[in-house]
Amino acid sequence: MYILVVNAGSSSLKYQLFDMETKSVIAKGLCERIGIDGRLKHQTTGKDQIIKDIPMPTHAQAVSALVDILTDKEHGCISDMSQISAVGHRVVHGGPWITKSVLVNENVIADLEKCCDIAPLHTVPHLMGIRGCMKAMPKTPQVIVVDTAFHQTMPEHAYMYPIPYELYEKYKIRRYGFHGTSHRYVSGKAIDLLGKNPEDTKIVTCHLGNGSSISAIKGGKVIDTSMGFTPLEGVIMGSRCGSIDPAIIPFIMERENIPASEMCNWLNKKCGFLGVSGVSSDLREISAAIEEGNARAKLAHDILCYQIKKYVGAYAAAMNGLDCVVFTAGIGENNPQIRYDSLSDMDYLGIEIDKAKNEQKNACEISSDNSKVKVFVIPTNEELVIAMDTQSIVSNLY
Ligand code: ADP
Repeated sequence: MYILVVNAGSSSLKYQLFDMETKSVIAKGLCERIGIDGRLKHQTTGKDQIIKDIPMPTHAQAVSALVDILTDKEHGCISDMSQISAVGHRVVHGGPWITKSVLVNENVIADLEKCCDIAPLHTVPHLMGIRGCMKAMPKTPQVIVVDTAFHQTMPEHAYMYPIPYELYEKYKIRRYGFHGTSHRYVSGKAIDLLGKNPEDTKIVTCHLGNGSSISAIKGGKVIDTSMGFTPLEGVIMGSRCGSIDPAIIPFIMERENIPASEMCNWLNKKCGFLGVSGVSSDLREISAAIEEGNARAKLAHDILCYQIKKYVGAYAAAMNGLDCVVFTAGIGENNPQIRYDSLSDMDYLGIEIDKAKNEQKNACEISSDNSKVKVFVIPTNEELVIAMDTQSIVSNLY
């Protein structure tokens, strides 16, 4: 069975085509600059990558370009789109309406339209991507996999904010949590590595990328997570502020003359590593600046590590114990210094990193042999989870 995984953003659409028999990627690519001009980067496994400028005024045209390239005699990998059994779409926010992976139908589209109110930046392009695929492949089942689904198990006291209850009811303002597909994948791998009864496991997963979130996973179920109503809450991120005193927001709006319509963008784009360091939102550039003695770059690094440490401690308390900490995503998988600085001086909790293992490329277990709490680096694979969910949903249809 072939499954196409699609991740539609505001001006881009990423895709991967999986052969589910081998769980391998047979082609992948990116349509970028949608709505501007349009460029396709595509690679069929085993062939050279190609880059083509193709006009993509809308997401529907981007989908047409991907259909053309997948079926292209020279650069493609299939002869006909009917070879694709289903499409799995990554969706960031399911709101209170979509709580698990589902087959797309009119009701699901209506639920997703309701999510535009609470997460317009992500949901509007998702809908365009889904509609583009429905138009290009009208007979192919479409499935959506929401990033919020894995966090549905949080208890009320973890997901409720201390605001008037009526506003929660009216606007559905609560903690939803994000990167759920990634937290689910890496915690599942960690449970396998621990070799314990899954019901007895206590895991903290740190997904650290441009956006970062940390989750407490007890017995395989999320009991708390750092991101909230939107992906802005939690630890410092590339250009997002993470958690700050809410009173800072009206204070800055008044003094800097920033209208409400722009403030959300300001909190998402001007803060985080970029705002603190003045260097970049990319941690590689922050690390390079630290090497050159840039104190503000070092401060951005230190804020992240200190916040990770606090979350690990808090979640160990919330779970009444800790078996392992998992690092994943761009920073978690590739930055040993962040891992070391976050978890150093935590011997009271039984965490001890092995410096040499931590520095090794592709190391998995980076805690010392004496460490009571294991520390793992586990590369995430959200696309594979989306493909597998899609397969399990559509397999009932065939
Ligand atoms: P996104 O949230 O957009 O998926 P990623 O998971 O790709 O982001 O993470 C991006 C972050 O990871 C950036 O701060 C980048 O510096 C860092 N990163 C990615 N790859 C590497 C690498 N090979 N070495 C060090 N840092 C990396």
